[in-house]
Amino acid sequence: MSWEEKVRKVVPYIPGEQPRFSQMIKINTNENPYPPSPMVEEELQVMDSQDFRLYPDNEATELTSALAAYYRVDTENVFVGVGSDDVISQIFLTFFASDKSLLFPDITYSFYEVWAQLYRIPFRKVPLKEDWHMDKEAFRDCGGIIFPNPNAPTGILEAEDFVEQVVTANPDCVVVVDEAYIDFGGKSAIPLTKKYDNLLVVQTFSKSRSMAGMRIGFAVGSSKLISYLKAVKYSINSYTMSLAAIRLGVAAVRDEEYFRETVGRIVATRERVKKELGQLGFVFPDSMTNFIFAKHPGVGGKELYEFLRSRNIFVRHFNVDPLKDHLRITMGTDEQMDQMLDCLRVYLG
Ligand SMILES: *Cc1c(COP(=O)(O)O)cnc(C)c1O
Repeated sequence: MSWEEKVRKVVPYIPGEQPRFSQMIKINTNENPYPPSPMVEEELQVMDSQDFRLYPDNEATELTSALAAYYRVDTENVFVGVGSDDVISQIFLTFFASDKSLLFPDITYSFYEVWAQLYRIPFRKVPLKEDWHMDKEAFRDCGGIIFPNPNAPTGILEAEDFVEQVVTANPDCVVVVDEAYIDFGGKSAIPLTKKYDNLLVVQTFSKSRSMAGMRIGFAVGSSKLISYLKAVKYSINSYTMSLAAIRLGVAAVRDEEYFRETVGRIVATRERVKKELGQLGFVFPDSMTNFIFAKHPGVGGKELYEFLRSRNIFVRHFNVDPLKDHLRITMGTDEQMDQMLDCLRVYLG
């Protein structure tokens, strides 16, 4: 047997491209166009490289405490990681260890399938309904459940009782709600974690808190879920959260006012862009995120993507059915959106 036959092979997730041009409009990976809170900048200024000599606090206590206070839970209900991708990958390893299938929507964050493959977790993709909403009845008889709410890349938020109905119908498996976009218009399921010990809610600092580069994500759930998660984490790497991520993360959580203001601006931009895209003939689900997943009945998605790219405007295009004809457009600043809309107007006009 050659060494290559002994390799754990996996087809990796393909992240959105990270082009680095000076004059570009980068609205392809759902980053926040506004800078992090000024309190993050202040904290950065007072950081001392001497502190890097020692290992950081493996429990990241300052950060878990700040998050616990913000979300009105106990510190033992919070788990932090290097972006929510890190948190979710550890969730897969910890909670989806049965022979029964893990369920997730057929149109969703494509990383779920990659982790399932990597960890050899049996899985089944649950078809979305005609209108691209999730079908709560289809989440039954399984080894675990994960879905984003709002879903990506559709941007669709489910009704307020959706999560609770899925959780109560599946008391014998862990239900994970990926709330990467919840701050842009939804109501978090975090309060429900007090009532259901099998519900885990995951969020990230990458979108609503403008800190994709600092890599901070977290999960909130019952102390039992969190302790299982920590046992796995401490069996891989005790010190995942850098000192910088812990301190700067705390600063971001403390500045609630700035957070609300910037999220409000993005929501206002989104609602305006919805109107303008509609006037240009685009159709799209009613997004409750910081992006719009739109298609134009007259022009293919790839063609539009390439045209915008030639104008140094980067949006996300998924070259697979049934997403091919859509563009996922992240909400940038109002000026960036106007430039994009002007380009589209000329092209379609
Ligand atoms: C962006 C995103 C994530 C990952 O975010 P991190 O940067 O790793 O925190 C997870 N799930 C969904 C649905 C996302 O859109």
